[in-house]
Amino acid sequence: MAEEPQPPLPAPCRQLSAHANAMVLNRVHRDAPAERVLEDAIRVQYPGKLALVSSFGAESAVLLHMVSRIDPAVPVLFLDTQMLFAETLAYQRSLATRLGLSDVRLIRPDPADLANDDPGGTLHGENPDGCCFIRKTLPLRRAVEPFCAWITGRKRHQAATRAGLPLFEEDRATHRLKVNPLAEWSFADVRDYMDRHALPRHPLLAKGYPSIGCAPCTTPVAADEDPRAGRWRGQPKTECGIHFDGGRWVRRPRAKGVIDSFS
Ligand code: SF4
Repeated sequence: MAEEPQPPLPAPCRQLSAHANAMVLNRVHRDAPAERVLEDAIRVQYPGKLALVSSFGAESAVLLHMVSRIDPAVPVLFLDTQMLFAETLAYQRSLATRLGLSDVRLIRPDPADLANDDPGGTLHGENPDGCCFIRKTLPLRRAVEPFCAWITGRKRHQAATRAGLPLFEEDRATHRLKVNPLAEWSFADVRDYMDRHALPRHPLLAKGYPSIGCAPCTTPVAADEDPRAGRWRGQPKTECGIHFDGGRWVRRPRAKGVIDSFS
């Protein structure tokens, strides 16, 4: 079994390790608002060397709006797993246009991985970790290779696994810095920001989807349920894998397939 090689760090990222930089920046920005965290990351710390990873989901408009006001040319990586709701694809196009985002990059799975491991598009039902691996983890890993850092919209309130989420952290799989400007934000903070700036809602929000992923793995939730209860409903899985801190990509040599093992 061979471990996936780490994506090489671009030369400009090597001056200070992501881990060391995260420790410094967490101290500097301990009480800073999200906008200042973002502005520092985009303009000062990593100008031209960072991207925003966005799902264009129910809460994504907040970060996209903030980034558009700082620099609408910041690359936005949108993971089109080819299992998304049609509403998400339409929302992505309309929101990007409205905010003037000029560098939205559609990131898709490698057709060879799909042909080998999910030719019928049913892998999500048999092996959701493997499905996320080829449709999310691997494509994102390739997409962030040119960058030193990436911005995420994760928040502490979203899941127990995110309870200790810092503003800045090292992604231990890629050794790049992850910036989580909304780590402290609550559901109400997001709602208030979107109201204040008249940002359009994802069309599925009104249909009972407060958290939106791929169509086969997302259901509506009841009013008294956790907002993420509709993600991989009935399964122990709570994360797609792209945010597993310390997650490893493992390939087992085989005539067919890349996903025999995922950890
Ligand atoms: S969320 Fe579901 S359909 Fe999407 S990549 Fe993961 S397992 Fe596959």
